[in-house]
Amino acid sequence: MTKSHILGSSLPELETLVVSLGEPAFRARQIHNWMFRNLETDFAKMTNLPKPLQEKLEAAATCSVLKVKATQVSTDGTTKWVFETHDGHFFETVLIPTEDRRSICVSSQIGCAMGCTFCRTATMGFIRNLTLGEILEQAHWVSRHVKEMDGGRVSNAIFMGMGEPLLNLENVARACEILNSQEGFGIAKDKITVSTSGVVPKILEWAVRAPDFKLAISLNGSNDTVRSALMPINRRYNIETLLETADEYIRLSGQKLTFEYILIQGKTCTPEAARELKRIASHRHCKINLIPLNRGNPDMQPPSDDEIAEFERILAQGDFQVLRRRPRGPDIYAACGQLATEQKKVA
Ligand code: SF4
Repeated sequence: MTKSHILGSSLPELETLVVSLGEPAFRARQIHNWMFRNLETDFAKMTNLPKPLQEKLEAAATCSVLKVKATQVSTDGTTKWVFETHDGHFFETVLIPTEDRRSICVSSQIGCAMGCTFCRTATMGFIRNLTLGEILEQAHWVSRHVKEMDGGRVSNAIFMGMGEPLLNLENVARACEILNSQEGFGIAKDKITVSTSGVVPKILEWAVRAPDFKLAISLNGSNDTVRSALMPINRRYNIETLLETADEYIRLSGQKLTFEYILIQGKTCTPEAARELKRIASHRHCKINLIPLNRGNPDMQPPSDDEIAEFERILAQGDFQVLRRRPRGPDIYAACGQLATEQKKVA
């Protein structure tokens, strides 16, 4: 019998499970509290459950299927975990602590099919979607770590780990709901962001399915020539189509959109590109996150500080907000575009 992964179960679903095991429905609330208040995954340690129920749960369900294969801590405090799945695959999750935030960078897939040339995950190819339980287990694991570390909680979640989240849309949407739920992880809606490479039909689906969460589009190129060379998806949905969709997303969701823009020397970080990006962002309900390239593809280099400063100077003339993301965890390959597991599936 395949065990059901109950980390993603709603209370009514948990009630159905415990009733099917011959136990009263109120036990569901106790199990839920153990999982989310106490961050416990071992049924044997859920001490207010009767022993027979603990044993029945052990046989029928699980709230932990991942194994931690490696943990790396950066000099800046960023921590990266490599998880192994039950079927022998590996993927990564990152915790980025700052003064006032505990942000988790969540993976939605093992590998990725999108083939962005600046991204190490692309070199893995696409292996499979993560299940809802596997997505939530990342947050559960990191939450336990943060609690042990300083008694705090995860404050922000961004789906910018491995994979294109909108190609695992339903699991990601459901995960966002549980990350946000007061009975789940309790992370504010506006602190949960899903980042897409620009899968146009899925952006519109997301605007209807999960309009309350933040959406970021990885733009990375200010014209089709540059963007198509960096992101193969641009050959399918070009910038004009993507921007029309972005406008429709803003209209449908009422949200401000984030454009992420990677700064690569001589490719995306030029004065001309800055002017094109300014035109794109002007008069749109959006902000821009600039991400200087991190080590990964040896054919690409990050710009110099002066080149970035000039790029920012041009953008500063626009009517939109611009932020530059400080690289976190580059020494352990935990920064943007650097996630890729070396370990291969065990035959
Ligand atoms: S940047 Fe994102 S969408 Fe592109 S290959 Fe990497 S993980 Fe996939």
